[in-house]
Amino acid sequence: MNIDDKYLLSDIKVSKRKQDEFFSIIKDRANGKPVSRIIKKRNFWNSEFCINDSTLDPRPDSEVLVSSGIELAKIFIKKEINILELGVGSGCILLSLLKEIHFSNGIGVDIDFNTVMVAKKNACNLNVEKKVKFLVSNWTNGFKGNFDLIFSNPPYIKSDDIKNLQIEVSKFDPIIALDGGKDGLSCYKKIFKNIKNYMSNNAFFLLEIEPCLSKHVVSIAKSNDLELFSTQNDLSGQKRCLIFQKLKKN
Ligand code: GLN
Repeated sequence: MNIDDKYLLSDIKVSKRKQDEFFSIIKDRANGKPVSRIIKKRNFWNSEFCINDSTLDPRPDSEVLVSSGIELAKIFIKKEINILELGVGSGCILLSLLKEIHFSNGIGVDIDFNTVMVAKKNACNLNVEKKVKFLVSNWTNGFKGNFDLIFSNPPYIKSDDIKNLQIEVSKFDPIIALDGGKDGLSCYKKIFKNIKNYMSNNAFFLLEIEPCLSKHVVSIAKSNDLELFSTQNDLSGQKRCLIFQKLKKN
């Protein structure tokens, strides 16, 4: 209602319009609309991110990609770290990293123009807009580059499983950010095809996964000359992040 808390202690008068608005929000929530979609923002890592209907709602489980990225950035001797995120969404992962890693710059790629506009707005809100560029592209189509840290949280839910997810997800998250095809792996297959060409010599590629897909993703990586460097668990102890490097040829 955009009122001060002091006002709540006084003899509160709520206009009919405000009451209708309030009850319509309660109805939305009762019908499964997440609070973040109602207030159009969500906290992630240590910032607040605007979201809209075309962005995936940031999940606490994805924060493991941020914490892992911050640790890996310390390994590099060079000063400036180049970061790429494929499927940038609201920008929660990439922008959190750019805020945390002092000497860094990034490119955020998304197939959806409206999503990129939200990520841009979030970059300004976090004061990292000078460190980041955004591209509308289908994964790596149409651009080249050499990056030290690459991130992606691609759609990985099996198409047939989407209807069984909680309504907050199945009805309110954009389907394009969830649907990983019949086996949940279709986007990983596309991304791995070219990713090597975007990795600097000692680069790390950090992927969010559904834990049960782990061995399949590792085998897709192997057939594209990448090897598993480590795995990281999310907040509920599930294997959520796989970290790859280019296969070292002896
Ligand atoms: N982790 C999300 C979920 O379980 C899915 C996000 C994704 O497919 N990348 O709802």
